[in-house]
Amino acid sequence: MYDVVIIGAGVTGSAIARYLSRYQVKAVVLERDEDVCTGTSKANSAIVHAGYDAANGSLMAAYNVRGSEMMPALSKELDFAYDQCGSLVVCLDEADRPKLQALYENGVKNGVKGLEIIERDRLLELEPNISDAAVAALWAPTGGIVCPFGLTIALAENAYTNGVEFRFNTEVREIKGSDGAFTVVTNNGDFETKTVVNAAGVYADVFHNAVSEKKINIIPRKGEYLLLDHTTEGFVTHTVFQLPGKFGKGVLVTPTVHGNTLVGPTALDGDDKEGMNTTAAGLAEVIEKSALALKNVPTRQVITSFAGLRAHEEGHEFVIGEAADCPGFFDAAGIESPGLSSSPAIGLDVADMVAKKLGLSLNPNYNGERKGILDPKKLTIEERNELIKKEPAYGQIICRCESVSEGEILDSIRRPLGAKSLDGVKRRVRAGMGRCQAGFCSPRVMEILARELNVDQAEITKSGGNSKLIVGIAKDRI
Ligand SMILES: Cc1cc2nc3c(=O)[nH]c(=O)nc-3n(C[C@H](O)[C@H](O)[C@H](O)COP(=O)(O)OP(=O)(O)OC[C@H]3O[C@@H](n4cnc5c(N)ncnc54)[C@H](O)[C@@H]3O)c2cc1C
Repeated sequence: MYDVVIIGAGVTGSAIARYLSRYQVKAVVLERDEDVCTGTSKANSAIVHAGYDAANGSLMAAYNVRGSEMMPALSKELDFAYDQCGSLVVCLDEADRPKLQALYENGVKNGVKGLEIIERDRLLELEPNISDAAVAALWAPTGGIVCPFGLTIALAENAYTNGVEFRFNTEVREIKGSDGAFTVVTNNGDFETKTVVNAAGVYADVFHNAVSEKKINIIPRKGEYLLLDHTTEGFVTHTVFQLPGKFGKGVLVTPTVHGNTLVGPTALDGDDKEGMNTTAAGLAEVIEKSALALKNVPTRQVITSFAGLRAHEEGHEFVIGEAADCPGFFDAAGIESPGLSSSPAIGLDVADMVAKKLGLSLNPNYNGERKGILDPKKLTIEERNELIKKEPAYGQIICRCESVSEGEILDSIRRPLGAKSLDGVKRRVRAGMGRCQAGFCSPRVMEILARELNVDQAEITKSGGNSKLIVGIAKDRI
């Protein structure tokens, strides 16, 4: 009998698991895919929003501001990439100034610190490539950028090392029973539990509606992006949003924590909860709209495109807490943007709600610190040489584009909740994230994975399931 079953190992489920591990608890995270961070948490703008946008008094506003305030300390405790670079909401038309003022006032009411409306001359100092149309901007110095994989994986690893179990390739199919005695039915057996936490992303409505009469409806709202090469580093140094105006909502242009530039997203409602494909029309819209706020956006330096699905609940509000008509069932549903920014605050709150319900006591062995994967690029030449002398694998560069060594890849596979697929390695150490998009390093990463996992190379997948990379070749020829 578990105390808690958490459905979903995205940033929300992983954050809840991490904060729950501060208690003495028997908890398990059930994830249908082969790894953490395979849903919306892997495909978003990676912005830690300052918190001026969400309606004052909403859960979104409260969790966003709190989550954004928690992020700097959390990034140190859990050793993931985060940069408080600040953000700008650019006003492109004098007629829209009242909207800029309203955004500022909403932010002040939400408790966002340091907000300022700045004029064109200051804006140009901050972002020299700003368009001629820009008249003013909302400056939010507490806005930031984060590695979404780094954040999610760090939370999950820390939960795991503090005793939370993770079961991958485990799809929840049904929830039976009630308060104190649920049976969670999966393709991998049944899990008996006292409480259930629903953090299933775009599928959270399915589980909520199965146990509650107060129905919710999650619409997958697609956002498409272009990711630009490192050569564009410095094109913008803050996140540049557009104030919604006569040209619509606009798109953002932002640096990433890894030195790329990200442009997007679109926003299109659909009904396909698996539809993560990009479209020619969506990417054309991204290019067109990005040019409204910035001059000469270097979109010719695109290295890949991708799309993510916002779990947009019809009420446009987070659905968080114990279901009124199903005690013991806790929702973390409708977690659309600013869900990444809010994740530490949601994790803390939901974990405390569950702990209170179960009367859990604190875990005396809890260790909230986690060390990430050693990045030799951050060492001095002397330190790097010393490392390579001790561990020659750090001298073998496997991914040339991102300069990733075999030593880092081995660490990504061997560590708690380690990588099992090409994408798992990619999200942990960036092998395959660069300009050639894994064209060069895939076979070499596959070799290392096969060796480390002690399986045939033909068994190695891109992202679990049926995504095998070697097909149609007799095994004895490999
Ligand atoms: C285009 C776009 C841009 C965004 N930009 C930002 C941003 O800049 N800043 C920000 O703060 N937020 C942003 N967000 C929102 C943020 O990405 C999400 O709020 C957050 O990632 C949601 O995390 P999650 O864990 O709730 O969902 P997910 O990451 O989707 O995790 C849910 C998990 O549940 C699993 N699951 C589903 N069904 C089952 C089942 N039956 N059994 C077992 N497991 C199951 C899935 O496989 C998945 O791993 C953006 C989102 C999008 C789409």
